[in-house]
Amino acid sequence: MALEIRDGRIYAICADHACRPGSGEAVVDGGGALCLPGLINSHNHSPLMIVRGMVEDLGFAPAYTPGVPQGHWLSEEETLALARLGVMEMLCAGATTIVDYYRMPEALARAAEEFGLRAMVGGRVMDADTAALAKGHFVQDPALGDATLGAAMDLIEQWEGKANGRITTILAPHAPDTCSRALLTEFADIAAKTGKQVHTHLAQSRMEVAQVIAREGMTPTQLLQDVGLLNSDLVAAHCIFLDEADIARLGAARAVVAHAPIGNASFGAAAPILALRDAGAQITLCTDTKSADMFEAMRMAIASARWRADMEFVLDATEVFSWATTAPARALKGHDATGTLEKGAPADLLLLDPKAANLRPVIGGFGIVAHSGSAANVTDVMVGGDWLVRDRLPVKADAAEVIASAQSVSERLWARAGA
Ligand SMILES: [Zn+2]
Repeated sequence: MALEIRDGRIYAICADHACRPGSGEAVVDGGGALCLPGLINSHNHSPLMIVRGMVEDLGFAPAYTPGVPQGHWLSEEETLALARLGVMEMLCAGATTIVDYYRMPEALARAAEEFGLRAMVGGRVMDADTAALAKGHFVQDPALGDATLGAAMDLIEQWEGKANGRITTILAPHAPDTCSRALLTEFADIAAKTGKQVHTHLAQSRMEVAQVIAREGMTPTQLLQDVGLLNSDLVAAHCIFLDEADIARLGAARAVVAHAPIGNASFGAAAPILALRDAGAQITLCTDTKSADMFEAMRMAIASARWRADMEFVLDATEVFSWATTAPARALKGHDATGTLEKGAPADLLLLDPKAANLRPVIGGFGIVAHSGSAANVTDVMVGGDWLVRDRLPVKADAAEVIASAQSVSERLWARAGA
């Protein structure tokens, strides 16, 4: 098959022999490569890779563990160095559209602009004293709330629609246990005024659920409903520790669930993702900075759903592939991606290595991709008709320099933490 791309969009799809390029048109021979629509990675915090490989065996909340670098130590330039590594990894793994939010959000936007992919970027907002939270109680830190909300709103002002519309902005209160009721209510107002989606974490830990119940007398999901955030513009990551009533609430609201099966499984949990789907929630897939490998996430989503279903063969490759492509394209606002390869769609696509042994035999269907594919198979990535990755390397940045600068920032911060 051949794709004809004009003005950043798929103009025609035809059999190889029917494709007749005009003079001056570039022809790229995929050499028999599988060509997929660009993947949409719906929840990440790119600078958080500072702790990758170091905290996974420490327990659930390593951010509170002595000896681990703290996010608030990072300067803007250090945040940028880490974000560049994270964004480069996601792009080279086949993500053409990402959601990324953290403190110092301008650094995330700068990284996305540099590499050229589509990004929905936000400033992570919270007003809990995290030291008190780690000891089990909520103490409001209004100065932190003001500072993080200020940075988030500045980002919206300065970055909405930048990079020819490839960068848009989102609202991102961190979580029900790290945000006061007043702050969450403020986000409901801002969302109503701006029409923006609200990305957050929900029911990520038993500690979060217990603390919100103790503080508010209701579950985290009920709290979001109570303040007016529970609707189809809520994008809630994790959604693990939910009771049946919470699942029904999220489903009835048509809320979007950013499913992070790798991160969830790494601390021993599996979200009730099929119950959420069946209740009416919109499911999207993410790697949540645990890796950038959406193929691994597809596989883990299938494995964890079947484990939860007690070995029933629920969830298949076709559906889980849609969670990485068409479902997030529909569910998330603020991007042009469709998650499809069809006439008229933006030319967001990736090629897989035609020589990769793990991708053979190719007979048909999505099985080989979801059950055997790997981010390491991605050789080339295009966004809006522009090649952003060629032969596994980013086009717009020097990969070796990106890696070296992230490594030196990480060494400095780990040294400061006493590692
Ligand atoms: Zn997260």
